[in-house]
Amino acid sequence: MKIKSADFVMSNSSVASCPSDPIPEYAFIGRSNVGKSSLINMLTERKSLAKTSGRPGKTQLINHFRINDNWFLVDLPGYGYARVSKKDKKTFQKYITEYFLKRKQLISAFVLVDIRHDPQPIDLNFMEWLGENSIPFAIVFTKSDKLKPNAIERQVKAYLKTMTEGVWEEAPLHFVTSSLKSAGRDEILDYIGQINSD
Ligand code: GDP
Repeated sequence: MKIKSADFVMSNSSVASCPSDPIPEYAFIGRSNVGKSSLINMLTERKSLAKTSGRPGKTQLINHFRINDNWFLVDLPGYGYARVSKKDKKTFQKYITEYFLKRKQLISAFVLVDIRHDPQPIDLNFMEWLGENSIPFAIVFTKSDKLKPNAIERQVKAYLKTMTEGVWEEAPLHFVTSSLKSAGRDEILDYIGQINSD
C-alpha cells in the first residue's frame, strides 16, 4: 500500500466521540517508550504525525488519523507508566477498555513490544484480555535494528514460545520492525491493505 495522505482528525478520551465514518480502523498500543510514535511516523512517512514522547504519560488520548481517505490509524495511549497516578491509570483503563469493546470499525489492534525485552506480564495480560474478548491483534516487535539477525530470531522465537506455552494455542501474527531502518513497513501496510480489499 502506498500512503497518499495521512491527516490528523481528532483526539478524545471517549469512544462515543470518536469519528463516526464507517471505515476500517487499526489501533496501535504498547508500553510507553516502546517506539509507537516512531512506528506510526515511519509507516505514514510523516516525520511528526505522532508525537514522539518527550514526556511519557503526556498523551493519554485516543488519536485518530485518516489514511488515504479510506482507513483510520489510531494511536492509543501507552500503558505501564510508572509516573502516572492510580486515579489516572483507572480512567485510562476505563476508556481503553471501552474503546476495544465498543469500537465497531476496529479491524485489528497492533500490540507493540520492544524486541530486546523478555515477555512482560503487562503485555501478555493485555493480549490475553484481547483474546478473551475476541479482538483480533498482531504483535509488532520494535527496534529490531538494536539486535543482530540471529538475536532477532532468537528473541521472537522465545517470545512466541512463551505465548504458546501459556494460554495460546497458536502463535499470533507478528511483524518485526525498525523505525530507524523502515523495516517491516511494507509487511504491515500490505497486511492492512489486504484485509481492506477483502
Ligand atoms: P513511544 O513512547 O512508544 O511513542 O516511543 P517513541 O516513538 O517516542 O520512542 C521512544 C524512544 O525509542 C525514542 O528515543 C526513539 O528514538 C527510540 N526508538 C523508537 N523506535 C526505534 C527504532 O526502531 N530503533 C531505535 N534504535 N530506536 C527507536
